[in-house]
Amino acid sequence: MKEIRGLFPDELKTELLALGEKAFRAQQVFSWLHEKNAESFSEMTNLSVSLREKLAEHYTIAPLRIETVQESALDGTRKYLLALSDGNMIESVLMRYHYGNSVCVSTQVGCRMGCRFCASTIGGLVRNLTASEILGEIYAIERDLSERISHCVLMGSGEPMDNYDEVVRFLRLVSDPAGHNMSLRNITVSTCGIPENIRRFAKEKLPVTLALSLHAADDWTRRKLMPVAERYTLYEVLPACDEYFQKTGRRVSFEYSVVSGVNDNKEEAEKLSSLLRGKNAHVNLIPVNPVTERGFTRPSRERVEAFQKILVKNGINATIRRELGTDIDGACGQLRRKHLDHPEKGGAS
Ligand code: SAH
Repeated sequence: MKEIRGLFPDELKTELLALGEKAFRAQQVFSWLHEKNAESFSEMTNLSVSLREKLAEHYTIAPLRIETVQESALDGTRKYLLALSDGNMIESVLMRYHYGNSVCVSTQVGCRMGCRFCASTIGGLVRNLTASEILGEIYAIERDLSERISHCVLMGSGEPMDNYDEVVRFLRLVSDPAGHNMSLRNITVSTCGIPENIRRFAKEKLPVTLALSLHAADDWTRRKLMPVAERYTLYEVLPACDEYFQKTGRRVSFEYSVVSGVNDNKEEAEKLSSLLRGKNAHVNLIPVNPVTERGFTRPSRERVEAFQKILVKNGINATIRRELGTDIDGACGQLRRKHLDHPEKGGAS
């Protein structure tokens, strides 16, 4: 059955006309789905019972079911393990900021990019999420909290540029003024760097923030951490990011997971400064989250600060990511992995 939440307003209109309904019904249904967050057709009380039945015969809303929630006692961060209608599990994280609620969404079940420090990729890619399922992450959390989600980051499990069409559909749907109406400026899309899709993305003219997972200032070091660097060199990826900036006017942000003994020395900081000099860039330093299955460890706070100082001295805007929810499961994909390893514990440690 078709997932009705993944349809654009004009597609919904075409579908409803084909069912013999009037066009304005499409606006009502769209509003129920994306503004009022309905999870069943029976909630759509301004539609006739027969229309609601007809919709239920042809479409599914396929809401995500909350399997477990862990809440941080330190900062209120909430980690959700969500079940998809086929039984697959994904993770989403709610983060509370002074400017509003933000959700870190997954874009795939698992991931095939193979980054060595990342838990999401351990079992490989299971499947892409649909636009409806990515929206479902935000809507399920919004319903759970009865609070608005105003921001989102595509930094959960999966590689957004490896699920291009559904991710772009998601972005257009979540920002639709007749629906959830999230500002695209409040959205960050993070990628390990697939140049052809970054260039294609630049042409969509969606004013989101693009974040590149850089993690190293040269290809040799980058290849130690990210298999994708075997496929594309920095001299292919960085010009694609420049094009993104030129086409959208949006500053690109660079993520740099700092790993002890791999990319945390002074020379790397100098090299990174030279690589980014002259770009309107922002570097986000992330002390690596140790994942049990991987051998990487994080440097001391002082070492990360020393790294940051060098960047700043060289005129590069750099911040150390504030960590949220450190008392619940750490890095991306860890909750889902724990669930896969010990399903009886529901993912909790
Ligand atoms: N596939 C996208 C989004 C994934 S995760 C990407 O690669 O950008 C978002 C960020 O968290 C990425 O920069 C990723 O490299 C980083 N990350 C993943 N696991 C991590 C860990 N254990 N410690 C620190 N950063 C991690």
